[in-house]
Amino acid sequence: MAGYKAPLRDMRYVLYDLFDGASLTALPGYEEFTADLIDPVLEEAAKICEDVLQPLNRSGDEEGCVLENGVVRTPKGFPEAYQTFREGGWTSITCDPAHGGQGLPQVVNTFIEEMICAANLSFGMYPGLSHGAYVALKQFGTEDQKARYLPALVDGTWTGTMCLTEPQCGTDLGLLRTKAVPNGEGGYKITGTKIFISAGDHDLTENILHLVLARLPDAPKGIKGISLFLVPKVLVTEEGALGDRNAVTCGALEHKMGIKASSTCVLNFDEATGWLIGEPHKGMRAMFAMMNTARLGVGVQGLGLAEASYQGAVAYARDRLQGRSPSGVKAPDKPADPLIVHPDVRRMLLTQRAIVEGGRALAAWVGLALDRQHHAGDPAARAEAGEFVALMTPVVKALLTDLGSEATNLGVQVFGGHGYIREHGMEQYIRDCRITQIYEGTNGIQALDLVGRKLPENAGRNLRRFFHPVADYIEARLDDDTLAEFVGPLAKTFVRLQQATAQVARVGMTKPAEAAAAATDYQRLLGFTALAYLWARMAELSLPKAGTAEDNDAFHSAKVATARVFMERLLPQTSGLFATIMAGGRSLEAFPDAAF
Ligand SMILES: Cc1cc2nc3c(=O)[nH]c(=O)nc-3n(C[C@H](O)[C@H](O)[C@H](O)COP(=O)(O)OP(=O)(O)OC[C@H]3O[C@@H](n4cnc5c(N)ncnc54)[C@H](O)[C@@H]3O)c2cc1C
Repeated sequence: MAGYKAPLRDMRYVLYDLFDGASLTALPGYEEFTADLIDPVLEEAAKICEDVLQPLNRSGDEEGCVLENGVVRTPKGFPEAYQTFREGGWTSITCDPAHGGQGLPQVVNTFIEEMICAANLSFGMYPGLSHGAYVALKQFGTEDQKARYLPALVDGTWTGTMCLTEPQCGTDLGLLRTKAVPNGEGGYKITGTKIFISAGDHDLTENILHLVLARLPDAPKGIKGISLFLVPKVLVTEEGALGDRNAVTCGALEHKMGIKASSTCVLNFDEATGWLIGEPHKGMRAMFAMMNTARLGVGVQGLGLAEASYQGAVAYARDRLQGRSPSGVKAPDKPADPLIVHPDVRRMLLTQRAIVEGGRALAAWVGLALDRQHHAGDPAARAEAGEFVALMTPVVKALLTDLGSEATNLGVQVFGGHGYIREHGMEQYIRDCRITQIYEGTNGIQALDLVGRKLPENAGRNLRRFFHPVADYIEARLDDDTLAEFVGPLAKTFVRLQQATAQVARVGMTKPAEAAAAATDYQRLLGFTALAYLWARMAELSLPKAGTAEDNDAFHSAKVATARVFMERLLPQTSGLFATIMAGGRSLEAFPDAAF
């Protein structure tokens, strides 16, 4: 399997040059997060990802998790790697210092998560799920619950899960059947079966805190009758020590396409003892609380895998000799030229690169907004950032995972048959990436969320938080000839997006099926417009430096060249998306059901 080198240079560029990361220190609570503090953290994260997690990626995939005597065993090396990870403080990086966390900015975490997912997505699932449980408990737990459970969750002594899915209930949580009955001692007896539970059981920690959606006896039907419960695998005494084993067992492990070293469990709750988190019947509120960071995190999974695949493909394309360049022999001393000279191979590599670097900028943009949403001193600035995050969260989740799948596919194609066989690990990236388009809300559901909720929400302000900076940027540069090749295509796409938005908003009022039919294409159009805006900004930033003494590693020249690839070769697909959106959903609806 190809090695992985964390792209720290590009991460710094995004954080400090593109986004003025130095201004993070102006946010209350972030005063100490200067570059001097952040850079070494990123370097240490790179080390553990490159040296500890990545070497276990292939073996973890080969070996997978196994269920033995009712207990899940993770692949060889995983328990030790988890201890190293935990002792290094990586489970607590963005957690609140009040609960033992390090309180690092979310934007820094997007880079760290990208490295973890690029190195070993299966491994990253364990701390990733714990973080979701941490967010829900921190916001909705009682003081006693927080004191008892949060410190161990934060320092990684225990992990967490999110138990939503049941056999009959996936996207539609209103169909949920798991029951919670008061046990007369302040707790509840939880009974039901949950499926597909990531990190549902494992041998990395001695306890697991399951956050479980269930119905109380008096619950209203549907989505409004769901409550959230905390159900520890091992009960915790008043003093915080481990007590009796709770009645939750792993009934089976799913055999699946990818992320084989991440355990995906069927969990049986058989009158297991649990405690209510938050208010009765308000479980979905707690779910939504953790969804923003979790969805951004899944988008970053797609990004990390795309980066890993790109690195593998570049190394191979430099090395493998096949054919001669159509523009003349490039390596006369060799029996053939390396793959990297062929225009079609360059198309694939540069598409991957444009996806990865654009996607990284997009994830960081939203990560920074999350930081402002939670830390800005001015309430208006917090609200504004929150509106932007609300709009962009489904876009980041779906766009970066769709593009991640496309990029990992290209990575295999660059290797030809050698990518399809397992030896080089390129096919694993495709298999691992595929689930990111499905879990945490399928990408189709993200699109419906964008069109049906996020666009109309807050009287349309969410969209304005994106439209205004893009419109201002374009307007200020329309007469700048040096930027015309970047700003021109951005401006054209932006007009298309505005027209498509008007169309989707119009049909959304009267014909919701039409808006739903347009949702996926609209989401991608909005996502590509965001990428075009960021690529224009990066081109503007790097143009004056490209080819100068400062550009001795050709970083800025490469940035400008990749911006051109994006504008000339990727962005034109938005005219197709626009045409599809404007065509409406008639042809989909008119097809006779009986003929399927
Ligand atoms: C490896 C793995 C790990 C997972 N981890 C967890 C976990 O930790 N915790 C957990 O609770 N769950 C987990 N899941 C479950 C995952 O979140 C669900 O699979 C996902 O939400 C989709 O539900 P479903 O599979 O039942 O598909 P369905 O809901 O049956 O959907 C099938 C298809 O129909 C579409 N669809 C469904 N409803 C609509 C609609 N109203 N409008 C338009 N299209 C619709 C979907 O987009 C999808 O394409 C995991 C799943 C896997 C495979």
